[in-house]
Amino acid sequence: MITAIRGMKDILPPETRRWQAVEQTAREVFALYGYQEIRLPLLERTELFARSIGQETDIVAKEMYTFLDRRGESVTLRPEATAQVVRAVLENRLLHGAGVKKYYTLGPMFRYERPQKGRYRQFHQINCEALGSDAPELDAEVILLLLELLQRLGLGQVRLLLNSLGCPACQQEFRARLALYLRQQTGWCHDCQRRRDTNPLRVLDCKSQHCRELLAGAPVMLDFLCPACKQHYSRVKALLAAQTLEEAPRLVRGLDYYTRTTFEVVATSLGAQDAVAGGGRYNGLVKELGGPDLPGLGFAIGQERLMELLPNKETKSSPLVFLVALGTQPRERAFRLLQQLRQAGLASDMDFEERSLKAQMSLAHRRGAALVVIMGERELETDEVILRDMTTSRQQTIPTDCLLPRLAEQLAGCQSNSFGNTAIIGGVTG
Ligand code: AMP
Repeated sequence: MITAIRGMKDILPPETRRWQAVEQTAREVFALYGYQEIRLPLLERTELFARSIGQETDIVAKEMYTFLDRRGESVTLRPEATAQVVRAVLENRLLHGAGVKKYYTLGPMFRYERPQKGRYRQFHQINCEALGSDAPELDAEVILLLLELLQRLGLGQVRLLLNSLGCPACQQEFRARLALYLRQQTGWCHDCQRRRDTNPLRVLDCKSQHCRELLAGAPVMLDFLCPACKQHYSRVKALLAAQTLEEAPRLVRGLDYYTRTTFEVVATSLGAQDAVAGGGRYNGLVKELGGPDLPGLGFAIGQERLMELLPNKETKSSPLVFLVALGTQPRERAFRLLQQLRQAGLASDMDFEERSLKAQMSLAHRRGAALVVIMGERELETDEVILRDMTTSRQQTIPTDCLLPRLAEQLAGCQSNSFGNTAIIGGVTG
């Protein structure tokens, strides 16, 4: 048997219905805040990620799915969306015209990490990106959008961590002071010994427990913010005053392009991989990728972790009508009827294995059908069908002409079943 690749999992029904519901809510919230969907390829030139995320980051150094295509060009399965969104926005000239450009995108990301609970090699993100303004209101909007989405999804116990990483000017002094501290301490892991010289900020993101302990006395960025960055940070905090947030002066993110506002949403119930979402400003990124000097910010929600946190509510689905027919001609008639019901917006199905009456009835039961329409040779002759209500077990024989309105009437009172279709019962007239 051929199995799936390690770290890549199948998402199966009925779980897929929960995913759809989450994505639907995300789309609604994005629309409310004026964000439009953008759909991007899974494969990009390697250079895009190497240049934007940073050579010294774990993602670029160890985790990218990179290979040569048939023409020898180095391509990479996207490990994150921001660089791609910026690439697409520049390439398609979407920055023209006034106003902030607001986009969202949903889909899989790929990172060759060590798989464990909450960490996969193919995982899914809900991404939000806003380009074109450095106003603190935009930072606050993006964070509030994230919180609103999580709240609408029913996510309770989460913490919002907030920090500012300053601008390149204030990062310069911080970097020098941090490098000094890193040299003064001994015992850094092999990677951090290298990062000390190449990109000291990356040491702050090291996952080794020992390095984390050594970092306890390291200088923090907030103490080095220039007056403009300090003011920006205070205004963001003031705009978010109504929210419960925790300042996290040691919060850095695993990508190099972040500046100023940086945030993460964590849920302790997730265990070691506790970050549900993360994001922040990336004011230098558009320029770095060959565009104008335009600021931007965004976030990414990890969808697998989000699903794990959501209350396991049963998702509502529309009631099912199951057609049961015996004999070739009744089956043909049932098949035509099936299409009519579907065109009328009723979730409906039939048996495709020519089973016995009893077996078809039990299939209808297992599928959670609310109503069953039965027809045999006799009903064919009289142009009637038998309609059985599966809840009350009551049966009645009705003329085929009356079936649609009768179904609509009976289904209007029905609740959900386990079969996942969406029926617009109100669309049926009669
Ligand atoms: P990042 O792009 O690293 O800032 O990650 C944003 C969010 O994506 C994180 O907060 C996680 O929820 C999720 N995430 C990142 N890497 C993985 C992974 N390997 N498996 C599952 N979720 C992930």
